[in-house]
Amino acid sequence: MSIEELLIFAKGHCHSTHAKILLAELLDKNPLELLVNLSEKVSEEKCELYKKEVLALANNKPLQYVIGSVNFYGNKFLINENVLIPRFETEELVENTIKYINDYFKEPVDILDLGCGSGVIGLTLEKKVSTKSVDLVDISKKALEITKKNCDLLNSKANIIESDFFNNVSKKYDIIISNPPYIKTNEEIEDIVKNNEPHLALYAGVDGLDCYRRIIKEVKYYLKDKSIIAFEIGCTQAQDITNLANKELENIKVIVKKDLSGKDRMLFILKNIV
Ligand code: GLN
Repeated sequence: MSIEELLIFAKGHCHSTHAKILLAELLDKNPLELLVNLSEKVSEEKCELYKKEVLALANNKPLQYVIGSVNFYGNKFLINENVLIPRFETEELVENTIKYINDYFKEPVDILDLGCGSGVIGLTLEKKVSTKSVDLVDISKKALEITKKNCDLLNSKANIIESDFFNNVSKKYDIIISNPPYIKTNEEIEDIVKNNEPHLALYAGVDGLDCYRRIIKEVKYYLKDKSIIAFEIGCTQAQDITNLANKELENIKVIVKKDLSGKDRMLFILKNIV
């Protein structure tokens, strides 16, 4: 079949933009190149694969899982159903954290990414700031298989640790960063998220705060004197998490930041930093 015939096939099943992105990925072209090469023949094997992928999209599988990778902060990361699809808000968390590291740390930093999933946060920081070590922690073996692949893809020296939060962690860090699960058990979320992304990475108890509660309770043993905790948070959770932090930690200042759409989505805890 030709590129044009494949796009016509896809049109009956999925959104035309998705159809183009998917075919462009498969043929290693950009979507515009497809349109100027409509009569180009595509191998039998690739046609079959493309049709399968289009049907997966028609079955409401997220485009990012069908493609199997995403761009995060300028790098390509592999993903599958065992890890969350990285969000723009998480790029903003990383961006703000880079600023804090550059502002407050003159020496290379030790970083812990807690609940690393695909590894987007920790691996991006490793590329963007001067690090002494980067530890990537997740409870899910299957998620860590993807983390490992992304480490290899990015030539990373990060350590991968299978651990339920701090259980197998033993050192102290300058930066502890986490985008933990924070959805409430009964919260309504989009079907495409609920039906495809790992619930282990999404849900965190009746009020969605279970993970913050655990992390904040244990974190003091893993923080250097001068350090920063960086959290992605749900847009209604800033006050509760601030209260938790003020109850459990000393000499801290909490800073809540809004994302581009004006919602409270990041919370930074600065310890012994004025
Ligand atoms: N750190 C990963 C991300 O931000 C995974 C987060 C998670 O699984 N809750 O995409």
